[in-house]
This record gives sequence, structure tokens and C-alpha cells, in this order.
Amino acid sequence: KPFQQAELLAKVRASLRVKRLQDELAERNERLVALDALKDEFLGMAAHDLRNPLGVVRLWAESMADGLLGPVAPKQANALAVIQKHADSMLHLINDLLDISKIESGKVELKRAPESLEALLASYVEANAVLADRKGIGLVLEAAPGLPQALVDRERLSEILNNLISNALKFTHPGGKVTLSLRGEGRFLRLEVADSGQGIAPEDLPKLFRKFSQTRTKSTAGERGTGLGLAIVKKLVELHGGEISVSSVLGKGTTFSLTLPAA
Ligand code: ADP
Repeated sequence: KPFQQAELLAKVRASLRVKRLQDELAERNERLVALDALKDEFLGMAAHDLRNPLGVVRLWAESMADGLLGPVAPKQANALAVIQKHADSMLHLINDLLDISKIESGKVELKRAPESLEALLASYVEANAVLADRKGIGLVLEAAPGLPQALVDRERLSEILNNLISNALKFTHPGGKVTLSLRGEGRFLRLEVADSGQGIAPEDLPKLFRKFSQTRTKSTAGERGTGLGLAIVKKLVELHGGEISVSSVLGKGTTFSLTLPAA
């Protein structure tokens, strides 16, 4: 083809520049991915190394509060209660951090077995009855009859349920209601955790399952959180091959809906 030398040279130079920039970008991307993995590894190590000494602090504070080291004056008892409360929330954060770093690095293997979701949910309702009662919240289970068993990792499922039920209780005012409902849906079971609580603003919904995200909805009795619970729940549901979604109306309540495979 006939060509203009100057034009061809300019085109070649521009193409070379684009190629150089693309290579640089790919290299930087690789470095970022490696740094991100290093950050996760460091976070996991730091959390792991903090857990034991913190557990020791927690244990000694508890022993002192229980009077095992001698009589405790009321002022000292108050101080010990504060130490225990803060040690507990730090341990909660550390455990959540360890959990998410393990899940994200692909190190979690599910030990799946057929389980009756209805029986498991009933045991959760029973276990949380005192907490619900103390807050004046009704906690009920509605299960469709004749449901198949679910194929789940019992320990991981209890993490999912603990998070969703404790959130529902945490963000609902006294006098409210939390309903767990279970039904079949093809090869899956659908579980809904619905509360009549404060609800979540529509603009907050998309960030709900992200790590460390907390919305403008605050707990109703000063309960604390890490913002990691729902990120962990979503990953665990997906590891099971299920899905989770949320719908919410401000001032009316929130429903988390998830699927788990039937056995
Ligand atoms: P946290 O440890 O803060 O509870 P989560 O990841 O479990 O972390 O929840 C993230 C945020 O989502 C909470 O801080 C709260 O603002 C909001 N949220 C979660 N569940 C509910 C609910 N049932 N009702 C209203 N807001 C909720």
C-alpha cells in the first residue's frame, strides 16, 4: 500500500506507547494482587497471634471477677466487667478476621452431611429464646411440612444462623418480632429470617455484604459488631452452592433470604 512515512512512524510510535503502558499496567496489577495476598496473610497471622494472649487476659479477668483470687470490691468488679466486655468484643473481631481470611484464601473445606434444617432451626430458636425474651422480641419458626433434609456443614451453618438471628435481634426494638421460615424450592430449601426492626436505607443495601460495612441502622441496645458477619455469611452460603439476598423497608423491617441444597 502507498504510505506516508511520517504518518506510519507516528502510528507505530503510538502503538508502541500503548503496548508499553499495557505491560506496565499488567505488571502493577500483579504486584497489587501479590500485596493484597500478603496483607491478608499478615492480617491472619496478627489475628492468630493476638488471640491467645487476649484469651489469657479474658480468663484472668473472669477468675478475678469470680472471686477466685480473693474478695473483689464493687469498684474492682465494675472495672473487671469492663475488661471482660472489651476483651470479648476484641475476641469476636479477631475470630471474624481469622474466619474471613481462611475463607478468602480458599482454605475452608465444608464437611457436608444431610441434616434436618427444621430441627437445627428449632434448636437455634431455643438457644436464642433467653436473649429474645430479655429484649421483649418474639422469635418464631414456621416450617412447611415434609421438607427434605439439607446437605450442609453443620458448624458452618450454625455460623450463618448465628449471624442472621443475632442481627435480627440486635436491630429490632423491644416488642418486635423475628420469624424464621423454611420451605422447599426445587432442589433447594429456602430459609428466610425476617424481622420487624428498623430496616435498612435503600442506598445502604448494595454494600451490606461487603467486609467491614456497617449501615446507618444502629443496634437497639448498644450491642457491638464488626461489620464482618454478613460478608462471612454470604461466602459460606455460596460455598454451599446457595444464594443470599436481602430486602428491607426503612421503619418496617428486613428479610434475609437464602437457599441451601437439599440432600
Ligand atoms: P455487624 O457485626 O455490624 O452486625 P454485619 O455484617 O452482620 O456486621 O452487618 C452489617 C451491618 O448491616 C450492621 O452493622 C447493620 O447496620 C446492618 N444490618 C445487618 N442486619 C440487619 C438487620 N436485620 N436489620 C437492620 N440492619 C441490619
